[in-house]
Amino acid sequence: MTDISALKAALGDIRTEDNPAIVKQKSRDFFWYSPVLKRELDAVTGDLIVTPKSEAEVIQVLKACYAQGVPVTPRGSGTGNYGQAMPLSGGVVLNLAEMNAIKSIAPGRVVTEPGAVLAHIDRETRKTGQELRLHPSTYNTASLAGFIAGGSGGVGSINWGGLRDLGNVLRLRIVTMEEEPRVLELGGWDLHKVMHAYGTNGIITEVEVPLDVAYDWVDVVVGFDDYMRAVRFANLLANSDGLLFKEIATVAAPVPHDYFLRHQKFLKKTDSVVLLMVAPHAIDPFLALAAREKAEIRYRSDTASEAEKKGLPPVYELTWNHTTLRGLRVDPSITYLQVLYPFPDHVEKVGRMTEIFGDEVPGHLEFIRFDGNVACTGLPIVRYTSDERLDEIIAIHEDNGCPIFNPHRYTLEEGGMKQTNEVQLAFKREADPKGLLNPGKMVAWENPDFDWESNKVFLFPGLRASS
Ligand code: FAD
Repeated sequence: MTDISALKAALGDIRTEDNPAIVKQKSRDFFWYSPVLKRELDAVTGDLIVTPKSEAEVIQVLKACYAQGVPVTPRGSGTGNYGQAMPLSGGVVLNLAEMNAIKSIAPGRVVTEPGAVLAHIDRETRKTGQELRLHPSTYNTASLAGFIAGGSGGVGSINWGGLRDLGNVLRLRIVTMEEEPRVLELGGWDLHKVMHAYGTNGIITEVEVPLDVAYDWVDVVVGFDDYMRAVRFANLLANSDGLLFKEIATVAAPVPHDYFLRHQKFLKKTDSVVLLMVAPHAIDPFLALAAREKAEIRYRSDTASEAEKKGLPPVYELTWNHTTLRGLRVDPSITYLQVLYPFPDHVEKVGRMTEIFGDEVPGHLEFIRFDGNVACTGLPIVRYTSDERLDEIIAIHEDNGCPIFNPHRYTLEEGGMKQTNEVQLAFKREADPKGLLNPGKMVAWENPDFDWESNKVFLFPGLRASS
């Protein structure tokens, strides 16, 4: 149990909060998307929120927590989906939201503090005609370090691939969790030590990412009476080398009409849609292609009247995990999966899954570049009935060559490749020898003998509050 008063004394003037209601609120993320995680993690709470304002204060917090053996779980904006930022063993929630300065903007690059919110960064870089290459659909709330430590890709991935692709993050500065915390600068392959490691092996205090030319993207919604026509059209657009999009997604009927309530007035109940962000100079050639394919444009932000646009969210807030969020608001019993449909037969694989599951798993695809090819990932809605059926749906996908990144697990490995990430593990040994950073998220650290072949779910023995 954390000795709060001793810790507070060691933290001096650094801002802390121990009101249990506020601590509980800041100990949560969007884990409740999953009925499984909701059950497992609902009671999780930290002991103290600590809000540093500088790297020097981060060092002071880590030093004090190391000395007292207190776990530290970093938090950006808390929009992760798998309990990533939840302190499973209690202790300190390190709230980095107030370290949000934009330090420099230069041609092709921006340097920020970890808690800078993506939309805020873009507002500043747009003054120089540049924007972020990639952002999650939580653009308006998520922090840049949270995206790098917890996310994978998003809007822009159709051109730039994912965060894991070399070049999409240029440099990270991190602080280690040791008796005397060290400040390290990581670049090149070393970035993979801490990227998508959920803050289990270092606290990011500065980020440098590349920028792209900024456009006034045009939101477009295209309707089809058949889902696979929508998928083939999206695939055609994604492979049209002369056209520029920032986002290409498909969503199967009746999800768009039933869940995209603000856009409902533009949609038919039977519409499966393609959701697009199109560069202004690509609109005319895009329309020519759409006309040839007999695609019906339901909505265009560049020609819609002010009255039509009033209250509409941007199209990217219908995509990625916002599709699920909009569904959950209408029908809280649904959930979702994360699927990869690998190149080159991604469209056939989507067709097969659509045939097998029909409306039990309404389709939702995000077209991306993956290892240099156009492929698609999916975040299909699942009309949840039981854990057993959810497991069956996962197994059927995997048996058909569509790997699942399971969003119903809180560990790195079970949500990812189901194997030890030796690079991240080795770096944790070096940078967090006591295992105090975000405990319970790296199976390889907690139980090096865990048998991945057993198909068992990892249960973190330190899961304090829920046990
Ligand atoms: P948090 O949730 O606060 O943290 C994420 C992880 O990073 C946690 O493990 C945390 O401990 C760690 N962390 C945070 N800050 C630091 C730091 N300074 N140093 C070390 N570790 C740190 N994700 C995508 O990739 N693409 C999407 O399109 C996408 N869409 C989403 C839509 C919705 C509606 C929701 C709810 C989630 C979505 N997500 C998506 C997941 C999430 O929003 C993003 O990954 C987001 O970028 C996380 O940022 P955050 O600031 O909220 O991070």
